[in-house]
Amino acid sequence: MATQRMKPREVPLGGLRAITVRRTLPAKDRSFVGAWCFVDHYGPQRVRANNEGGMDVPPHPHTGLQTVSWLFEGEIEHRDSGGAIGQVRPGEVNLMTSGAGICHSEVSTESTDVLHGVQLWVVLPDVDRHTVRNFEHFAAEPVALAADAGTARVFLGSLADVAESPVHTYTPLLGAQLDLARDAKVTLRLDPTFEHGVLLDTGAVSVDGEPLEFGDLFCQDEGPDSLVLQAGPDGARIILLGGEPFEEEIIMWWNFVGRTHDEIEQFREQWQAQAERFGEVEGYEGETLRIPAPKLPGVRLRPRNRRGKRTA
Ligand code: MN
Repeated sequence: MATQRMKPREVPLGGLRAITVRRTLPAKDRSFVGAWCFVDHYGPQRVRANNEGGMDVPPHPHTGLQTVSWLFEGEIEHRDSGGAIGQVRPGEVNLMTSGAGICHSEVSTESTDVLHGVQLWVVLPDVDRHTVRNFEHFAAEPVALAADAGTARVFLGSLADVAESPVHTYTPLLGAQLDLARDAKVTLRLDPTFEHGVLLDTGAVSVDGEPLEFGDLFCQDEGPDSLVLQAGPDGARIILLGGEPFEEEIIMWWNFVGRTHDEIEQFREQWQAQAERFGEVEGYEGETLRIPAPKLPGVRLRPRNRRGKRTA
């Protein structure tokens, strides 16, 4: 059984008011946990007290993926070119499916004092990646774990014996927030065909005896049918991810997921040309009405596989 502990790296995100996120996937030698292909963790950022910051990401495109927005604190207004306007709130998942193309904006609202959450991407399999735009919202109620160990909010897929989410996914997936009580020890039953990831937000936790630091993502290959979480004296809040190993090779560049260099180049040109593929966001009130794509690198983009290896 292979496990890895990913350390986060800091990346500025967005336009004028860039927010710094801690990114653990993709990593050099691991691209995915199941079909989860992107893990950004941010905050807690004291928006009010600093009179700055917050999130203001102007309209930008996506292809071939789903974005999963999940907050611990704060509120974000989402607008997309499928016509969806949604408030992202703590405990409520917003799942946006780009299909062949979408664009969206994300702005933290006036009521936000503290912004704190995760932004995750799910890669769509080749057979489904040209589907239509979609947006789903689901409030995941906390469900008690055994023996007063805490609660789980399952926002995607199902966690054995605990809860399941009705939100549709294109590959078998799991996404959940676990709030562990002080000194709680929990043995989670896992689907042994899934890879899993454990991201530590607040508190302290060890996974199968391995302690995590704030923002670390513990990753485990398929095989084991359980995982032991041990919380510290102040408890722990974690994000649990899982999914069937994703065996396709993909190219992730900027906000696009594709399969070949030429395809990514075409997506870029179409975004720059305001092509029909991405549609329009209505009602975004920031100064920059669309984020321009960066230049492609001088070398051809190469696909990566689940081990992070670049091929072709
Ligand atoms: Mn986005």
